[in-house]
Amino acid sequence: MKGNMMEWGLTIPKLINFAEENFADNTFVSRSADGSLKSYKYGHSLQNSRKIAGFLKNKIGINLTDRVATIAWNDSYHLETYFAAIGMGAVLHTINPRLFPEQLIYIINHAEDKVVFIDPLFLPLIEGVYSKLDHKIPIIVLTEEEISSEVIDNIYSYKDVLASEEIIESWVEIDEDAAASLCYTSGTTGNPKGVLYSHKSTILHTWAASGAIGVNSMSMVLPVVPMFHVNAWGTPYIALMTGIKLLLPGPALDGASLYELIDTEKPDILMGVPTVWLGLLNYLSENDLTLSSVNQVMVGGSAAPYAMIKEFDEKHDVFLTHGWGMTEMSPLGTMMQPTRRLLEMKKDDRYNMQTRQGFPLFGVDIKTVDEENNTLPRDGVANGALKVRGPWIMESYFKSDSKSSDKKGWFDTGDVATIFPDGSMQIVDRAKDVIKSGGEWISSIDLENAAVGYSDVQEACVVGVPHPKWDERPLLLVVADESTLNKEDLLKFLESKVAKWWLPDDIICVSELPHGATGKLLKVELREEYKNHLMEK
Ligand code: AMP
Repeated sequence: MKGNMMEWGLTIPKLINFAEENFADNTFVSRSADGSLKSYKYGHSLQNSRKIAGFLKNKIGINLTDRVATIAWNDSYHLETYFAAIGMGAVLHTINPRLFPEQLIYIINHAEDKVVFIDPLFLPLIEGVYSKLDHKIPIIVLTEEEISSEVIDNIYSYKDVLASEEIIESWVEIDEDAAASLCYTSGTTGNPKGVLYSHKSTILHTWAASGAIGVNSMSMVLPVVPMFHVNAWGTPYIALMTGIKLLLPGPALDGASLYELIDTEKPDILMGVPTVWLGLLNYLSENDLTLSSVNQVMVGGSAAPYAMIKEFDEKHDVFLTHGWGMTEMSPLGTMMQPTRRLLEMKKDDRYNMQTRQGFPLFGVDIKTVDEENNTLPRDGVANGALKVRGPWIMESYFKSDSKSSDKKGWFDTGDVATIFPDGSMQIVDRAKDVIKSGGEWISSIDLENAAVGYSDVQEACVVGVPHPKWDERPLLLVVADESTLNKEDLLKFLESKVAKWWLPDDIICVSELPHGATGKLLKVELREEYKNHLMEK
């Protein structure tokens, strides 16, 4: 017997309507590149979204499922563009501005973007690649100044868009399984891969994330995690569902700028990767300052270190909520939320518990398996490949014909983990050959391929090793004659092939590199051997 309840599609246009009807007078704050702060009403901003949608539909000719790209920081313009694109039934494609030109060209062409919204700071970036794009797509610069370009003909300023009279009267009615947004990840081998979220997956994730983060009607959340990186962990949608106040930080994310923002606006929940919090904690300690308004810092993207958990607690009375997830998971998978059980523990035991990535959210199944895909015991000792399953987890990459999950629907995260008897999970290693520096991916394989192109290098291997500020940095090991290899020259050579922030922190000459039976480089051994190399420098 089936239940007798209504069908009511879980879509983002409904979420926008809901916010317009119920939270129109609620406010959020956005900081511009010049540092100025401005308060906005959600109702007013969503009205702007209607104007943008009208402009996209009538002036640019955007239709259902067309990709609308953004390259922007966390600010009011970006937020308005988010809801304009998704609300009209297009697919919002958020692009990471730290990608280097070849990747940017690849992604825009692969996604078949029909228009790109960009922050004025990134105009040179898009001008630099414009001639390599498959189509001369329109560019909309997120500024209220006049704008022109010698390279791009069809360029508009946000001012033109807002002046548009072609307002959208009603948001689209769309199937809950339709695509809503697209985000590429470089956390895989080969070219970046697209993850295409649906309306339903986004709404389900938003419900789960709101509960897990513990927002309430009084919350003010500062998402330092970028809106181009998995939708800032879902915060724009959480804001529309709950009416909370968002504090959008703009481009300045150093310790001093963040402190000033926090001190002025008094948010209670902060969200971001460990590197950002390291910058903030250093600034606070150098200037003898504390965080008075903050209750919780949500940390993910890389492991939160014990020392950081302790410092937030002891110096600032702030609970560090450690979370884990990935682009392919919308992103939230597990979280170590504050609980009575945790808060009653001895501090040292609690901090140790908080280094675990936490318990799965309802909607995320987790398990660990051995090399033969046998499920491992949840004993806190056995560790193996971490697999996940659930309604906001990707089944296949954008435009890929094959499923990324196994026959039983499990997706291999590329992380290696232990699950404890109480259900909590800890990441112990990464099986994938990519390096995460300050929350962003570096491809070891691309770097190796670039390095072997240098005449004196016979073989190259790049491993990620722990770094005090960036969490992980690339170390390049080369089989080469140490007496003749010019490391400066090699670095210059690499600089012409990859983004500057990808350059290895050190180059080490070796006589040979370790290989397994199939000829594969044994990177685990090298990571172990050099794990203190950059920590000691
Ligand atoms: P991304 O798709 O860029 O968000 O990266 C996801 C990957 O980042 C995961 O598969 C992990 O390798 C890593 N990651 C995310 N959160 C954590 C965490 N709390 N601890 C350790 N690694 C993490």
